Amino acid sequence: MPLDSQPVRIAGSRPKQKSRSRRHKDNLYGQIQETKFNRYVLHDIARYRQYLAEGGASVYSEAELKALEASGVSNRLPPRATGYYLDLAKRSEAVNNLIKARPEEMDDLSGEADPSNQLKYSPIPGLLHKYELVLLYVVRTCSSWCRYCYRSDFLTGKTGKDTASIHEIADYITTHNAKVASGEITDKPRIREALLSGGDPMVLSNRNLFDYLHGLAEAGLDIIRIGTKEMAFYPERFDDNFFAMLDLFHELHPDVMIAFMVHFTHPDEFLHVEADGRYVYNQHGRPKRNPLVQEAASRLRARSFVTLENQTPIIDSVNDDPNVLRLMQRELKRMGVNNHYFFQCREIEGHKAFALPVETAWKIHAQSQHNLSGIERSRFALSTEAGKTEVVGVIEGREELRALGGELGDALAEGLVIFRLHRTPVENLQGDLIIARRNKNALWITGYEDRILYDGRKGANEKKWGQLMATLLPVLSQAAE
Ligand code: SF4
Repeated sequence: MPLDSQPVRIAGSRPKQKSRSRRHKDNLYGQIQETKFNRYVLHDIARYRQYLAEGGASVYSEAELKALEASGVSNRLPPRATGYYLDLAKRSEAVNNLIKARPEEMDDLSGEADPSNQLKYSPIPGLLHKYELVLLYVVRTCSSWCRYCYRSDFLTGKTGKDTASIHEIADYITTHNAKVASGEITDKPRIREALLSGGDPMVLSNRNLFDYLHGLAEAGLDIIRIGTKEMAFYPERFDDNFFAMLDLFHELHPDVMIAFMVHFTHPDEFLHVEADGRYVYNQHGRPKRNPLVQEAASRLRARSFVTLENQTPIIDSVNDDPNVLRLMQRELKRMGVNNHYFFQCREIEGHKAFALPVETAWKIHAQSQHNLSGIERSRFALSTEAGKTEVVGVIEGREELRALGGELGDALAEGLVIFRLHRTPVENLQGDLIIARRNKNALWITGYEDRILYDGRKGANEKKWGQLMATLLPVLSQAAE
């Protein structure tokens, strides 16, 4: 459905469909218990001042707070964090940089209001449907907010994206899948998988979370992903009541797999960090883990229907170090978490304060792969409108080849970067390449658009080869003369 014909609905006004909710409530909700957590969430600067006055972890000086207020940084994204995470920020420079707002964020607000044109793929409010996987926006907050947040447009409500009604989504999935089965829909596969996103689904109550899980399982899905950074922000959330709800879900839907798409950005978020910022090692020289994170991971891993996958962007002054990334991949795998993706920082508004150039981030990631086991490795990709676009490699240029002349000479002199369409909604583009002349300053695929020689996104043979042929022809005809 084109964007301009989407159903108009004011954010937060979705229908409640109470009778259907009550039916679940009567049958199942009675078995689900809630815990009253005290995350001690500090939202915005005024609340932080109060927390400081109460003796909380000092992350900002008074001068910094005044500079933040003067810059209007809260208009972009208010600073928000749990007391737990601020306490960690005091011991870790990387965590501090991840969570601490800076006036410089306001220096350049260029970027996309709706990164990767997500609304184009939203057939009903709260749902993105691009692959055989659908994404649901289930809650408009996280217990802390990363300054580089790639969903900040949703958290702040700037693009009008709404949260998903599980009843509407379940109806959409069953209707879509019935049409695929009957042959009425042929351009998209059966929906097998859903990602609960937001915000962070783990800030929902157990009953709300169950509602989404149960509704999606009833709609016939095989895999449900939960995208969460709560293991870093507030690991105590993974408590007895949560696991009782998860086990109830598994009892009802034993064939449905749950994948926790966790988001650790730096090892300090899951290793034991002393007051002076150092790790503590056991007798075998292995770093000890944060006991709260360890317990949450162990309890999740103890369930055969659960997997844990980490994905995170590479962020300036947070994790832009191959040794940090290597340690992270090793230690996550030892904790039972698979290393799924490292991402390029998305082209959100204000991304220039956090993003490294694509080729710099690729190099850091490539170096981090050295000395890793095959089962510890990961991919580095851009989440573009065309799909997950992996950066496969960068070829150094050779200046003497500029003598070939024209675009070909420039490309070979400056070097090439090669992307691969690792995951794309279009079947015949799967695995195809994009080859572009290097741009050491590019922060996103848009920085390469006028340098692309071969473009696998274009599908048709003559189109994807078009630029390369135009580049080669003058050289070939010169050679033939
Ligand atoms: S956890 Fe994800 S959605 Fe939440 S603030 Fe961080 S990047 Fe944004």
